[in-house]
Amino acid sequence: AHQPHITFHDGNSIPQVGLGVWQTPNNDATTAVKAALDAGYRHVDTAAIYENEEGVGKGLQASGVDRKDIFLTTKLWNSEQGYDTTLKAFDASLKRLGTDYVDLYLIHWPAPKKGLFGDTWKAFVKLKEEGRARSIGVSNFYPEHIEKIVAETGVTPVINQIELHPDFQQKTARAFHEKHKIITQSWSPLGQGKLLDHPVIGKIAAKHGRTAAQVIIRWHIDSGLVVIPKSVTPSRIEENFKVFDFALDQDDIAELAKLDSAGARIGPDPMTATF
Ligand code: NAD
Repeated sequence: AHQPHITFHDGNSIPQVGLGVWQTPNNDATTAVKAALDAGYRHVDTAAIYENEEGVGKGLQASGVDRKDIFLTTKLWNSEQGYDTTLKAFDASLKRLGTDYVDLYLIHWPAPKKGLFGDTWKAFVKLKEEGRARSIGVSNFYPEHIEKIVAETGVTPVINQIELHPDFQQKTARAFHEKHKIITQSWSPLGQGKLLDHPVIGKIAAKHGRTAAQVIIRWHIDSGLVVIPKSVTPSRIEENFKVFDFALDQDDIAELAKLDSAGARIGPDPMTATF
């Protein structure tokens, strides 16, 4: 089945399902990325702080898939925020990835106490103008952080990658993004695996003859989100991509909507994160 894409306000588009590679060592990243591309994925999400950009780059090479057919995202780590440091860190990421552009570059966290995400965004705008970052976006930004960078540059991020799973649905953030034509991307879409045993999800999965992971990924897709489930196991990587040939029904959607409960965040709150 055909994989869906979402179009950004800058005209570029992103495959809706990608492979996440957080907590994946370099060597495993190579095999995971190759397995994903073999299974049909065309989108990989890494970050400088994951320390596996080199392994990801090798996986892209090993797949034999044309670079132009792959959507590659990396992220700027907090310690490199600032105008000049960002430009330098970007060059280093490209070098490790073994490519001369990324499809999407993200500011990993706002780190508001540093007070540098505004200058950082100005460097991102330059990288976009140079064409070395085809699209630019943010991660873990609250509306007030987005409003500041837009006011300072006139450039709206194409995407905000935030923690989002069926029991933490981020309705406020999503409504803000929609108003500003920003796509929402879900990190830890499976709740880091914790949601796979949820009875409601299990019941829906059994009804469709699917796995819990497939039901959750399908929920993200049907919710208009970009989703980047992580696995290093080739059979699971394949399973997570076999989600384009079934649909959730109205009852499923209503039941999953009810799982949303404030406070089910797993990761740090971006406003108070200490890194
Ligand atoms: P996830 O929600 O994708 O869960 C991954 C875990 O679920 C795996 O470790 C595995 O144990 C399990 N799993 C995956 N597929 C499975 C299957 N089919 N069957 C059974 N178990 C399965 O968690 P994540 O890695 O935290 O998030 C996904 C990606 O999001 C990351 O790899 C990373 O790319 C991104 N991310 C970004 C940020 C950020 O700050 N921007 C933070 C966290 C994660």
